[in-house]
Amino acid sequence: MGKPKIGIYGLTGCAGDQLNILNCEDELLKLFEIFEIKSFVMASRAKDEEAKLDVAFVEGSVSTQKDLEDLLEIRKKSKILVAIGHCAVFGGVQSMFMGNEEWIKRYKKVYGKENAVTLTPPLEPKPVSAYVKVDAVLPGCPIEKEPFLKLAGKLAHGIIPKNPDYPVCAECKWKENECLLLKGEICLGPLTNSGCGAICPSHNIPCIGCWGPIHEENYAAEAQLLIDKGYDVDTVVKRFAIFGGSERAEKLRKFLEKKEG
Ligand code: SF4
Ligand code: SF4
Repeated sequence: MGKPKIGIYGLTGCAGDQLNILNCEDELLKLFEIFEIKSFVMASRAKDEEAKLDVAFVEGSVSTQKDLEDLLEIRKKSKILVAIGHCAVFGGVQSMFMGNEEWIKRYKKVYGKENAVTLTPPLEPKPVSAYVKVDAVLPGCPIEKEPFLKLAGKLAHGIIPKNPDYPVCAECKWKENECLLLKGEICLGPLTNSGCGAICPSHNIPCIGCWGPIHEENYAAEAQLLIDKGYDVDTVVKRFAIFGGSERAEKLRKFLEKKEG
């Protein structure tokens, strides 16, 4: 059996996840030894887009027609598709407060008119799972080196890994940090996927949720706790929406307004 063939691709995003793969400096040569890299334009212009892939890593949200066409092509030629980074997994900050044609209003605010960018028509930003089957995900904004290397190692052995299903708070407790939420700060650790090692609360900075919402989050309980601590609905909804997506923000706003009403 030859080396697994992989491709690393970027849709709309900041390219931070691809950069963090390149930042695996000590392990990069090993990665190039284990995998046959067919496309990684961030690293090399040499690419073979005709090749069938064992694994495709996709960064970025689907925010243009070109993104969508590229994604459908990548899916067609790949046995396993892995969404990497918040934009690919959850839609990114560009997908907050969407729905109700919000993105058109925001697009016009930035570009002045609806069809200002003619290279490719814009679409409402969405995660890749909105359009294609996703076999595995690695959240983070951007992804971290260690979890990426673990994921790549498992994929090299034909294992499709599952992410840990516990929140940032668990990692925070293991580090014996003092809880910022209990001190009255808006910390989204209880609602956020673990994996970053609770890096922000470990430096006394509240978690803003960049690893995305956990599977069974109890956002209502945390929102209520924050309201009880004196925060207003708008502040809470805005904080939850940064990395939580428009759907969650809307559900939360309705929940809080109903309670207040
Ligand atoms: S500081 Fe934040 S992440 Fe840490 S335990 Fe408290 S709520 Fe959870
Ligand atoms: S603590 Fe929260 S905001 Fe900070 S890196 Fe981790 S998930 Fe992101």
